[in-house]
Amino acid sequence: MFSNHEERVSSQQTIKQANSKLVFKLIDQYDGISRAQIANITKLSPTTISSLTDELLKKELVNEIGTKIVKSSGRRPILLDVNENGAYFICADLQQHGYYLGIYNLKCKLVSGKLYNLDNYDELGKSLVVTSKQLLKKEKIAKEKLLGIAIGAPGLIDELQERVLSSTIIPLTESNLFYEQLVKAFPLCQIELVNESSLAAYAEIAFVNEIRHLNNLLYIDIHTGIGAGIIIDGNIYRGPHNLAGEFGHISIDIKGPRCKCGAKGCLETLSSIPAITNKLPKYTLKEIQRRYDELYMDVTVVVNKNAKYLAYGINNAVNLLNPEAVIIGGQITIFGQKYLSEVIKEYKDIALRQNKELPILLSQVTENAVTLGGARYLLDRILIR
Ligand SMILES: [Zn+2]
Repeated sequence: MFSNHEERVSSQQTIKQANSKLVFKLIDQYDGISRAQIANITKLSPTTISSLTDELLKKELVNEIGTKIVKSSGRRPILLDVNENGAYFICADLQQHGYYLGIYNLKCKLVSGKLYNLDNYDELGKSLVVTSKQLLKKEKIAKEKLLGIAIGAPGLIDELQERVLSSTIIPLTESNLFYEQLVKAFPLCQIELVNESSLAAYAEIAFVNEIRHLNNLLYIDIHTGIGAGIIIDGNIYRGPHNLAGEFGHISIDIKGPRCKCGAKGCLETLSSIPAITNKLPKYTLKEIQRRYDELYMDVTVVVNKNAKYLAYGINNAVNLLNPEAVIIGGQITIFGQKYLSEVIKEYKDIALRQNKELPILLSQVTENAVTLGGARYLLDRILIR
């Protein structure tokens, strides 16, 4: 049992923490903001703002960036900004034969990144620890400056977000202890294991100007498999058991082929990259893409069929979720605007009248969206929300 005094202290700390996050959020949002402006927006007293910003300055999370002339008073208040080199995040994107690892600064700018091969996925934990330390050393970043690590994984993640339960892409199983190995090596860090499509969705909504103002997004990730990232009210929606976004396994065709998951006619069997390449074994993916551009009939029929199935999948999801936009990302984007137009044409043919004009766009994040989304996700989780 807590005494009244202890309860009061802990609730005061919670309030202080929430206020500190609010102040940091504003400093992150504005390109230079004064203490007076923060007080004005938050309605907190100038003394409180002053003490909260002092603490953020002491932790080197923000810095003072000079002054802005205020015409009316002639006074020049000192402005605050996020100190981009005040702290860092490490993010990994687990892939079929290894992983991409990137270090990001507090402004989510990539400092350094590298693709690592992995012959044996049982060695993942050890490898992540070694390569993370190597990257920190190379960039001369002290271990204490590392606030968090995000791992984006293709597959089902358990409710505690510590295990990859299964994946059709990477040979990771429940018994793999890479999460524990990371916790042991970086005890001061917040370590997050998140579905890769969710992180890619997070990157789109955080960094693509066209959709930045939106709060509800469906991001469809098409590679060997198909996943979806769902953003609702600005947050990643995982579902109570972390099973949301298994978009590849919605059934589109009751007479369709049996899927690896056990179901029949899954979107993944009809609309993924292998759904195209398996039907055109004569060509490499690159050749298929070129022939699609050049309007060769054999390829066009197959790729457009793939687009049609995807359009039906999108229509089902849109009717269920009512997103503000749909983004198509992943390897399928090599087919470009022509493929997108085909998807939109088929979608409009079947969509509800009110949904026909829903923006359906290709992914616009040009760097690794999983790790970039991971950096923003950590920033939000640790310092803002
Ligand atoms: Zn399936």
